[in-house]
Amino acid sequence: MSFKSDIRQKVEYQCNKCGKLRILFIAPVLQSGKVETHGYIEYCDVHFCEKNELNAIKLFVDHNYDVRSQVAVETKSKSDEPAFTELAGLGIPIPEKTEFITQTIVPTRDFGGYNLKKIEIKDKLRQRTYVIMEDEGEGEKEIIVDSPLKFVEIKVQVSADLKIDIVKEWLVGLSNIVESLVYLDENLLSYLGTYLDYMLINIPREKELLELTLLLHSSVAIPHSTKQHIEIFEEHVNELFPDLNVVSYRLYKSILKACLENEQKTILNFYEELKKKMTQIQAFPYYISIISTLVSFGFINLEKLEFYTAVG
Ligand SMILES: [Zn+2]
Repeated sequence: MSFKSDIRQKVEYQCNKCGKLRILFIAPVLQSGKVETHGYIEYCDVHFCEKNELNAIKLFVDHNYDVRSQVAVETKSKSDEPAFTELAGLGIPIPEKTEFITQTIVPTRDFGGYNLKKIEIKDKLRQRTYVIMEDEGEGEKEIIVDSPLKFVEIKVQVSADLKIDIVKEWLVGLSNIVESLVYLDENLLSYLGTYLDYMLINIPREKELLELTLLLHSSVAIPHSTKQHIEIFEEHVNELFPDLNVVSYRLYKSILKACLENEQKTILNFYEELKKKMTQIQAFPYYISIISTLVSFGFINLEKLEFYTAVG
């Protein structure tokens, strides 16, 4: 346990709006750069707040992992931009409404641009617009959706033969995940383009939305397995995964073995190691779908950066 506390830090605060005690685990390694620059880390905690309505609270966390200030981010109406309201402060200036910074993300090398030509994620909480595209990035169809709290707007250019309803379902799912992310790792967005390009043709079911969540947490989620998990896998693999071919079987096993007593490596770290062994063209989507399967069958447990409401 002591080892784990070295890699994650507990941050506790009481929401001034609803009075709930909230607990956050953050990975300091990811954040040290930001603390250096600003003197504090900014986080956003989305939770069921007053009147059981979803609310976003922006937090300012100092070097000692104390919450120095909290600001509720309020949405007024559908068309309005979210407004920042100060609730409690200890002399830390509230962020000025600044210009949106636009960041262009180059997709991974195996991005084909078959279905997805361009995606723009406008994140009002982080004051950033992420544009994921390759070269021109102009598609035949443009689709725009808003996240449930309206903090995230996603605009895509896709090929003409895609079904609008299906693409919209994906984007609503994605916007929801992005909106509730505590930490957005911008490097993962290059993988997001590759994943979506491959997936947009089919309706996202629960499994795919879990994959998308795993993808956006893959640089912070730490997968574990145990000897017993691997034994059970070996024993029941034929009943559980009747269609598994030899190549996939080996990959499932390598992933499980890699996760054995793993304490530090993330889903993304393992991908970097395993991708040399993977022959699939869409290696990352395939890898994420295996992780998702192993997680939903309970062969892998995940520890991740997350908020939860403490009991009592
Ligand atoms: Zn609250």
